[in-house]
Amino acid sequence: MFNETDYRPTRAIIDTKAIKHNVERVMSYLPKETQLIAVVKSDGYGHGAVRIALAALQAGAGMLAVATPDEAMTVRKHIKNVDILVLGTSPSSFVKVAAEQDIVLTVTSDTWVQQVNKQPPYEKKCRVHVKIDSGMGRIGVRTETELAKIVKYINQSNHLSIDGAFTHFSRADEKDVGLTKRQFHHFMQLVGCFPEKPRLVHASNSAAILVFPEYALDAVRYGISLYGIAPSKVVEERLPFALERAMTIETELAYVKKLAAGQPLGYGGRYVTNEEEWIGTLPIGYADGLKRGLTGQEVLIGGRRAPIVGTICMDQCMIRLPHVFPEGEKVVLIGKQGDEEIAVEEWANRLDTIPYEIAVTFSSRIPRIYN
Ligand SMILES: *Cc1c(COP(=O)(O)O)cnc(C)c1O
Repeated sequence: MFNETDYRPTRAIIDTKAIKHNVERVMSYLPKETQLIAVVKSDGYGHGAVRIALAALQAGAGMLAVATPDEAMTVRKHIKNVDILVLGTSPSSFVKVAAEQDIVLTVTSDTWVQQVNKQPPYEKKCRVHVKIDSGMGRIGVRTETELAKIVKYINQSNHLSIDGAFTHFSRADEKDVGLTKRQFHHFMQLVGCFPEKPRLVHASNSAAILVFPEYALDAVRYGISLYGIAPSKVVEERLPFALERAMTIETELAYVKKLAAGQPLGYGGRYVTNEEEWIGTLPIGYADGLKRGLTGQEVLIGGRRAPIVGTICMDQCMIRLPHVFPEGEKVVLIGKQGDEEIAVEEWANRLDTIPYEIAVTFSSRIPRIYN
């Protein structure tokens, strides 16, 4: 599994069995006819798009989704024979390639369709999913009139064909379910305006999948919870089954020393030892995704918690040890050790953000090891 370049002990261990578990569990929870679209955008939420896609497909996912044309091309290079949906907009210059590569695009504007229709003919039409903005306010058609226009232009097109229609919920992870209900009804109303029902109608992200299984329709888009992470605290409390976390971030103690009281540590000397203290240095820093704001966050060593002290450097940081440990001792930054666990939510709370942002924050300098 290890490359000869993986000398640094700082690693992301990705558990593909957890990915498979999260797929199998959600599929047995959803109606049989609902297809699972595994969302592997942003390099599989930091877990590695291709390896995650393979695991999800093996476990029963029927389709993949990414955010951008380039992400679709990267996945396509390694995985054939499965549709890849680009969830965001794509430039019209990508449509011909998408058609050849069985990459399904999202269409949001009639001017885009007209632009595509002006291109020289293709051998094969590009399949598109029409995006309906039911309340998110990001991309998509909002009214019947806009929808009618876009459908008319696509039906006249020698380049495009309608394969699906979808919307995206903006608040399915919140306590108030009324907002999502309204979005769903607005979406279904517009779906009813297609002259012919698109093959694949889909609405749900992880939060909606887990909280509103009745909105599953033809397909669902499973993102954050594919990786074992609940979209929010509210959803976590309503989970219909247990998710399994797929990512562990670990390293090893690179250096250990005992300091006398009153010794400053790191840039700015922002931490000063209170008493005689054992201090360990870890070969991980903010360039790896350990944000500077995480000073004070704990790590696991010997099954116990130890705080990060002083300013986090680009490539290294210091921790205060409960007692001496040998250099090379395993340290877990995200994941389990003994009876202790540090979840991405803990980092997210400390940084005043959401677990999604933590998942995608680990840089490519951290090798992903799959088991
Ligand atoms: C990212 C994304 C998803 C997946 O959302 P999760 O909350 O991660 O499940 C689904 N649909 C669209 C359009 C997205 O952009």
